[in-house]
Amino acid sequence: MEVTRLSALSDNYIFLLHDPKQNLAAVVDPAEAQPVLRCLSELGAELVAIFNTHHHMDHVGGNQQLMQRFPNVRIYGGVEDKGRIPGQQVFLQEGDTVEFAGCVAEVLFVPGHTRGHIAYYFPPVEQGETGELFCGDTLFAGGCGRLFEGSPTQMVNSLSKLRSLPDNTRVWCAHEYTLKNLQFALSVDASNPDLQTRYAEVEEARRRLEATVPSWLGIEKRTNPFLRWEQPTLQAAAKSKDPVQTFARLRGMKERF
Ligand code: ZN
Ligand code: FE
Repeated sequence: MEVTRLSALSDNYIFLLHDPKQNLAAVVDPAEAQPVLRCLSELGAELVAIFNTHHHMDHVGGNQQLMQRFPNVRIYGGVEDKGRIPGQQVFLQEGDTVEFAGCVAEVLFVPGHTRGHIAYYFPPVEQGETGELFCGDTLFAGGCGRLFEGSPTQMVNSLSKLRSLPDNTRVWCAHEYTLKNLQFALSVDASNPDLQTRYAEVEEARRRLEATVPSWLGIEKRTNPFLRWEQPTLQAAAKSKDPVQTFARLRGMKERF
């Protein structure tokens, strides 16, 4: 399975999964159809699956047009999003699996950004390979999604699930927000050497207009303030000793940043 990152709208990413053996493709969160159709025609591949993480328009906006072009495509999403994802046929919950190109992904229920948000995790097939995490707007490179329909407790539980995955997991998040996220991260965790190094790298990459997605889960664990609610520095920044309250206050500070 090969993953191609497509840019869409102003700062969204769509991920196209390609099986070169059978020349089949799947997409994660098609914000719009055009970039997907263009890539599929370059590959000459048939679209067989749309994996949606949640119902927001910048994640499902291309569903309808892709369905029209590929009537046999199957559209996956969370069961809690029933009625909110155009064309949804498969209603997933925690513990379910989905399959593409002989690779099996685990479905993780990760509410918080929205009440129906799910993530797809493809574990490494062989030792030494990377895992692939498609986490929508739950975890971002250097940040996390806003809490539109969920509580801090829910989001901490959801992020804990993602944090428990191995370090060598690639994090395919749905927006290019990394530089701004890390600016906030530095404002609350300035003495973190891994964060300083990462910030310099990301700043340089963005100056060259390069994408910063995917990132690695190992790096997220060391530098993302929204995975580090038990760190004394971050608890001090949030003026709390409680993990959930630390998370909630950091999230509030980020909104005002
Ligand atoms: Zn969203
Ligand atoms: Fe989004």
